[in-house]
Amino acid sequence: AKEAGKNNCQFYAKGMSATAVNYLLLENDLRRAVEQEQLILHYQPQIDLKTGELMGVEALVRWQHPERGLVSPAHFIPLAEETGLIAPIGEWVLRQACYQQKRWLDSGKKVGRMAVNLSPRQFRQRNFPEKVESILRETGLPAEYLELEITESCAMEHAGETINQLKQLNQMGLYLAIDDFGTGYSSLAYLKRFPIQKLKIDSSFIHDIQSDPNDAAIAKSIIGLAHNMQLSVVAEGVEKPAQSDWLCDEGCDQGQGFLFSKPLTARQFEARFVGKHFA
Ligand code: C2E
Ligand code: CA
Ligand code: CA
Ligand code: CA
Repeated sequence: AKEAGKNNCQFYAKGMSATAVNYLLLENDLRRAVEQEQLILHYQPQIDLKTGELMGVEALVRWQHPERGLVSPAHFIPLAEETGLIAPIGEWVLRQACYQQKRWLDSGKKVGRMAVNLSPRQFRQRNFPEKVESILRETGLPAEYLELEITESCAMEHAGETINQLKQLNQMGLYLAIDDFGTGYSSLAYLKRFPIQKLKIDSSFIHDIQSDPNDAAIAKSIIGLAHNMQLSVVAEGVEKPAQSDWLCDEGCDQGQGFLFSKPLTARQFEARFVGKHFA
């Protein structure tokens, strides 16, 4: 059996590592994931640090692989991005999140805004704003209930293009956020020209916020920067009450993280959060 296995492996190009082969297998599976309805969205709340109110929810995709179990987006989103599969996957995520948000709105359950992550290749599609428009029309969701997140590095990489794309989305009435803020190389000259509404402080600065003075200084600076630019600011990866208290004292608007909740299925999210804080 060992020999046969070896021969099987030789079928692949010499020098191809086990990881590369694994990647190829995963790519084949990923091609079918959307059609076979193996993707699922989980939802994580964004909480007002002062009032405890639910302000919004971030949709996070997972892949229910028939053999591998639940695959994290950190594993397959980069692969999807590389192979172009991000187009159908990203579109599925957006449509699914909008349908869910519309259902919550229709049932009178307010969840604030629904935030959806965009990968660079998806965001840069020329007709991306038109795609969003058509999904909003299809699902009947008003644009103001949808928020789009692009990472700082994605935003800054082709900043000129980014401005045009963000302007179109902004004019449609969407809410726009810069994700993982602090981890890329921001040009403040560009940042002030982006028509955005929100910065999300990367969780790497939150983790040791009480013990590392540099992290604390960075978090404070981002909060100040956001407010000076009339943007709201959210801290990611809030796990401890002391972190939440510190952030609240520093004027950070919202928190997201395991302290409030892990990402939940729609049903779990509804049971725990929907309609709980709003009248
Ligand atoms: P992200 O957008 O920065 O999302 C936050 C990640 O941190 C999520 O991981 C979330 O589960 C995790 N997280 C939330 N609170 C805490 C906490 O308190 N502590 C810790 N340690 N982690 C926390 P997840 O769901 O595995 O997603 C990983 C990344 O995959 C996301 O990072 C995002 O970049 C990407 N991603 C997820 N869903 C999508 C999607 O639909 N489209 C695209 N393009 N990317 C996605
Ligand atoms: Ca995000
Ligand atoms: Ca993030
Ligand atoms: Ca991140």
